[in-house]
Amino acid sequence: MVSRGLLIGRFQPFHKGHLWAVREILNREDEIIIGIGSAQDSYSIENPLTAGERVEIVREVLKNLGVLDRAVIIPIPDINENLAWPGRVIELTPRFDRVYSGNELVLMLFERFGIETVKLEHINRDIYQGRVIRELIVKGEPWEHLVPESIIPLLKKFGFEERIRRLAARR
Ligand code: NAD
Repeated sequence: MVSRGLLIGRFQPFHKGHLWAVREILNREDEIIIGIGSAQDSYSIENPLTAGERVEIVREVLKNLGVLDRAVIIPIPDINENLAWPGRVIELTPRFDRVYSGNELVLMLFERFGIETVKLEHINRDIYQGRVIRELIVKGEPWEHLVPESIIPLLKKFGFEERIRRLAARR
């Protein structure tokens, strides 16, 4: 049976830290399931991209890595009950063997249900972080070097920069 690892993230936007995590999981597992977390959120300063846009971006990354056939992408909306959330994730995704995350809450919730977890380290967390990238955009500073080059055309097509600046201006 193929082994599968699950990675859930908001990917707002997908950055080089996420890329490292995807590669790490694909080195250890036959297949990866990528959950697009907070799928219900979009057009907010914390969650500017829609779930559909994030699906397109993650697909582009996987295509570029040549691993589209080893991955499944599933949007996962948040729910108000933390302990019910792992069940919701299981309901929406294909079978998986392990959950990979650098997020302690995600690890704790799955562990509570006896699901095997693998704690991922964070690399260059001071710069490879969605919030940092969104703040750089608001300040008009360079940020493109923090995301995989292959997704820049898509972010431009979605008007990512302008959307963040307009959302920040209305606060
Ligand atoms: P994220 O995009 O910040 O990170 C996703 C994963 O990418 C992390 O687990 C980490 O392993 C990896 N990563 C991030 N930065 C990295 C770096 N610099 N180097 C290496 N790896 C890095 O997403 P997140 O906030 O962890 O996503 C969790 C999702 O689960 C959210 O959407 C959250 O709302 C959802 N959630 C929902 C509930 C609920 O609905 N009750 C409960 C818990 C979590």
